[in-house]
Amino acid sequence: MGRIIAIANQKGGVGKTTTAINLSAALAAKGKKVLVIDTDPQGNTTSGFNIDKNNLDNTIYELMLGECTIQDCLIKEVVPNVTVLPSNVNLAAAEIELIGVDKKEFILKNEVDWVRDQYDFVVIDCPPSLNMLTVNAMTTANTVLVPIQCEYYALEGLSQLIHTVNLVRERLNPQLQIEGILFTMYDSRTNLSTQVVDNVKKNLNQKIYKTVIPRNIRLAEAPSYGLPITMYDPKSAGAESYMALANEVIKRKDL
Ligand code: ADP
Ligand code: MG
Repeated sequence: MGRIIAIANQKGGVGKTTTAINLSAALAAKGKKVLVIDTDPQGNTTSGFNIDKNNLDNTIYELMLGECTIQDCLIKEVVPNVTVLPSNVNLAAAEIELIGVDKKEFILKNEVDWVRDQYDFVVIDCPPSLNMLTVNAMTTANTVLVPIQCEYYALEGLSQLIHTVNLVRERLNPQLQIEGILFTMYDSRTNLSTQVVDNVKKNLNQKIYKTVIPRNIRLAEAPSYGLPITMYDPKSAGAESYMALANEVIKRKDL
């Protein structure tokens, strides 16, 4: 059965979506079948795979409200081996519309259970908050991958995130683990990046990926072409780093 990885950090702009798109594409380039689930109303993972997010009949929003099946929503082979469960701004209303609905923390999990056997990996991009959508993602997942931007405030908010993972494990999903911490936007020219990495290693007793994602302009450009970095510029430092990350994720058999 495929491993389900939620990419979460309630801070915006730390590289969640960039990692969801490019880790998925790198796993797919290595022959793995990947389902990417966009749970952010911003829909940037959806548009990053060249899907016109404002022109969709069935998205994760209709799915969570019980208006369609997961099969109705899936957009298959957006690039070879990658299927997307898309999102758009409508999803912002889901939290309100689901008030009072029984077991709403399990809605996504119950749907993904229908299809997870068809994939080697399911990668879930989370919104930048610890809301009901993030809880749904963590309830569905086996592991949580936490991107940390190499900047001064990197550690801020991490204790709440880890607390949330612990609560979800205790109450909703006993097998949930932290997959690992991923450093993003690393700039080898600054001492700050090095200090952040050292500081996190000292203060957080978590698994840390050996692969560090460098700050690379090609990673920021790729979404405007609707392409993952592995297709936009496969020789770039960004592409090489996400391929290396995919190797580490595949090798992590203990999870
Ligand atoms: P999040 O999903 O956590 O909000 P994003 O992945 O959308 O973060 O990244 C925020 C911004 O930083 C985007 O404009 C993205 O293109 C850019 N970005 C992300 N990772 C990198 C990187 N390694 N190098 C350069 N720019 C990056
Ligand atoms: Mg995002």
